[in-house]
Amino acid sequence: DCDSMAGDTIFGQMLRGEIPCDEVYRDERCLAFRDIQPQAPVHVLVIPRKPLESLRAADSTDSELLGHLLLVAARVAKQEGLDDFRTVINSGLEAGQTVFHLHVHVIGGRPLAWPPG
Ligand code: 5GP
Repeated sequence: DCDSMAGDTIFGQMLRGEIPCDEVYRDERCLAFRDIQPQAPVHVLVIPRKPLESLRAADSTDSELLGHLLLVAARVAKQEGLDDFRTVINSGLEAGQTVFHLHVHVIGGRPLAWPPG
């Protein structure tokens, strides 16, 4: 669909404030908000303001940004009261990526099985 092809996605619309989101953190480089279909008591998505379509599209100029996203993921987990949590980045359709704007899932608040399905 067009969301997966264009540089613009529903997450881009959230970043521009065109559609609302349940925000939990923001700074100049990223935004974090609650997943609309939570898979656990806490399920937050951390996204860069830069419209990278996935981790596959990142390069060495993005190292600092990628590090920042992980640090924000840990910060959000702490803010949500989680000691234990999982971070996930799905890259590509077969891996389960449905929104083609890079996002880090932060999931926790219940026991999580490993490996995932
Ligand atoms: P992916 O499957 O691409 O790794 O993750 C995309 C995530 O975005 C899914 O967990 C899905 O529930 C979430 N999502 C899709 N559309 C929206 C939306 O409009 N608002 C919010 N908050 N989350 C969304």
